[in-house]
Amino acid sequence: MGRVYNFSAGPAVLPEEVLKEAAAEMLDYQGSGQSVMEMSHRSKVFDKIIKDAEQDLRDLLNIPDNYKVLFLQGGAHLQFAMIPMNLMKNRVADYIVTGQWAKRAFKEAQKFGDAKCIASSEDKTFSYIPDCSDLPIDENADYVYICENNTIYGTKFKTLPNTKGKDLVADVSSCFLSEPMDVSKYAIIYGGAQKNIGPAGVVIAIIREDLITEDVLPGTPTMLQFKTHADNDSLYNTPPCYGIYICGKVFKWLKKQGGLEVMKERNEKKAKILYDFLDQSKLFKGTVEKNSRSLMNVPFVTGDADLDAKFIKEATEAGFVNLKGHRSVGGMRASIYNAMPIEGVEKLVEFMKKFEAENA
Ligand SMILES: *Cc1c(COP(=O)(O)O)cnc(C)c1O
Repeated sequence: MGRVYNFSAGPAVLPEEVLKEAAAEMLDYQGSGQSVMEMSHRSKVFDKIIKDAEQDLRDLLNIPDNYKVLFLQGGAHLQFAMIPMNLMKNRVADYIVTGQWAKRAFKEAQKFGDAKCIASSEDKTFSYIPDCSDLPIDENADYVYICENNTIYGTKFKTLPNTKGKDLVADVSSCFLSEPMDVSKYAIIYGGAQKNIGPAGVVIAIIREDLITEDVLPGTPTMLQFKTHADNDSLYNTPPCYGIYICGKVFKWLKKQGGLEVMKERNEKKAKILYDFLDQSKLFKGTVEKNSRSLMNVPFVTGDADLDAKFIKEATEAGFVNLKGHRSVGGMRASIYNAMPIEGVEKLVEFMKKFEAENA
């Protein structure tokens, strides 16, 4: 069997070119006689890999000089704790709860202080982004927290919340590098790599420098202090070397495609193909309010669990895999990250049309 069209929400599809390059370099990375997996993280060769990765990411996102880029571990989940531990000086933070990941982050922050949920879309199964133009932001809030793209529910903030001058922290795991973003509007941007950037095991955090201090909550472990990693250029301990190397290759691939403006256009085009079909289909329907729709994760249902299961089974047999919706919502979800080619979406829609005709 050849390569499938992989609609997994994460770990997710990576550019074939990147995988081929990595395969070619597996036994001997650029004449070093070693795999990147086998070499010291203190070696000159690896130093260039991590420095190039950081520079390419800076180029792609136009990251201002007063932001640090950190390559961390522990998944997005560890950031749910690291963020309050490093930022909650007043022990107050405001959370906008637009899905399961935001809710987990909110719950975790409650361990450290007075974390408040100031807006939520749970009343309608997180199928929309609430109006965040005038929220009751606490005047002592250390930050306002969002999950910018809700991987499970398929919603995305189209405008950032009005934080009334407070620092904005965003989990961008599933929309990282899918389109340009203005880094200066955020205090921290972070995401797990396994959605749109690289293999699981790497978390990238982009943090405004003034937030990286020794003034953290008492008892914060050394490894959970941003300063530890910032002072050591992400090499305090052994970083996830191979993962960083693959992320670096994806950054180069993105630059070669033309950068994030081009990716945005391409992602809009792909998402439109799928949403346009869903909007006119008599069998399938999208589950998200139109103005909150994600470009990356597209959930849909037939309204009949047995038919959903039949669809997923037949789609898998036809080479469209990982279309099952998250276990908390059911139905289907097509994740169409940067590395999903347009043909993948076109062919999926053709398949859905055929399924619709056969099951009308
Ligand atoms: C997948 C995901 C997470 C959880 O990531 P882990 O790396 O498994 O901790 C958190 N937030 C968002 C937006 C995600 O898509």
